[in-house]
Amino acid sequence: MSADIPVNEDRLWQSLVDMGKVGALPNGGCCRTALSAEDKAGRDLFVSWCREAGCEVSFDLVGNIYARRRGRDPTRAAVATGSHLDTQPHGGKFDGIYGVLAGLEVVRALNDARVETEAPIDVVVWTNEEGVRFSPPLAGSSAFAGVTDVETIHAAVTLDGTTVRQDLQATGYLGQEHPGARKFACFVEAHIEQGPILEAERRTIGVVTRIQGLRWLKVTVTGMDGHAGTTPMDRRRDALLGAAEMVLAINRLAREQDEWARLTNGRFQVEPNSGATIPGRVVFICDLRHPDAATLQALDDRMQQAMRGIAKSNGLAVDIERVMDKPPVQFDADLIGSIRETARRLGYSSQDMLSGAGHDAMNVARVAPTCMIFIPCKDGLSHNEAESAAPEHLAAGAHTLLQTLVARAR
Ligand SMILES: [Zn+2]
Repeated sequence: MSADIPVNEDRLWQSLVDMGKVGALPNGGCCRTALSAEDKAGRDLFVSWCREAGCEVSFDLVGNIYARRRGRDPTRAAVATGSHLDTQPHGGKFDGIYGVLAGLEVVRALNDARVETEAPIDVVVWTNEEGVRFSPPLAGSSAFAGVTDVETIHAAVTLDGTTVRQDLQATGYLGQEHPGARKFACFVEAHIEQGPILEAERRTIGVVTRIQGLRWLKVTVTGMDGHAGTTPMDRRRDALLGAAEMVLAINRLAREQDEWARLTNGRFQVEPNSGATIPGRVVFICDLRHPDAATLQALDDRMQQAMRGIAKSNGLAVDIERVMDKPPVQFDADLIGSIRETARRLGYSSQDMLSGAGHDAMNVARVAPTCMIFIPCKDGLSHNEAESAAPEHLAAGAHTLLQTLVARAR
């Protein structure tokens, strides 16, 4: 066990406040979509802080930032932490930013305590976690894990009509290093919970054991356009009616599954979308989530079967395409154990939990032992300007992070 090394709660809070001024919105939130001018300003500020703290800063080909606090043994793989600095259009000051600045606070606290580690410690900023200004989301960590290739990310077109490669060049964050060339001994991401559980249970630390799997089905229902006034009800092939019946049926299946299943139909496209025409075609998205891979597959199968049956009995055609498939992620058992034990030793209440949201850590988990630390956020609110977290909880998470990383870097 390493002797306790304190973190500086006020300094961590002040860094979050200062970063929150970059791309600030009127109601307390931030807008720093990936590789925008605001994101560049946020990155620049972080880099200047890291250099002041004595870190060696480098970027890779997709703009991931690595701030390295050197270890005594430069041949050792880095013990890594970090998250993202980009935000939703109406984002808060904590989602992602906390994980990055908790990592910086670890570096600063180790400097204050004059502690040297054997392995280097890397604080990482992953590019475009949110996926607002361009796709895919989780872009930087996807490239790092080899899930998405660099060329695909470079060629992606932003909402401003530029390519990501152009933006990386323009912002000065196009590095030479191939993402994934660098190996991590482990990766621990601190994050606000973005949900209500820790607050309700009055726990300070969430030990994230797994992230649920996520699938997107794109469902295209085809019927026939027709005149709203002249087509008798029994002669219609109304794609919207069929789609509506499908949505009700699959939601029933998801509710019957168990308490973990999540199904959302948040995007609907009706064609021709005219008040006096029977809809001939409807496209909608099923966002389906479950922590267990086999259950996710079984539910997917049952939903598809139900939708095909409904199409058939309504004289409609249906095409179902799986456009996204992120399998559930189980985090590293040793790291889970050491975070639990560290929280206990530091006197913070904790509980194991599942992450409902996707995080960069789910990609990194493919290539390095990985885990996450959650802390409570006010009313479970996130992706909202009012997103908030208590300074003492933020410090507790950083403290747990520090001890976990130092134990691995010795
Ligand atoms: Zn996040």
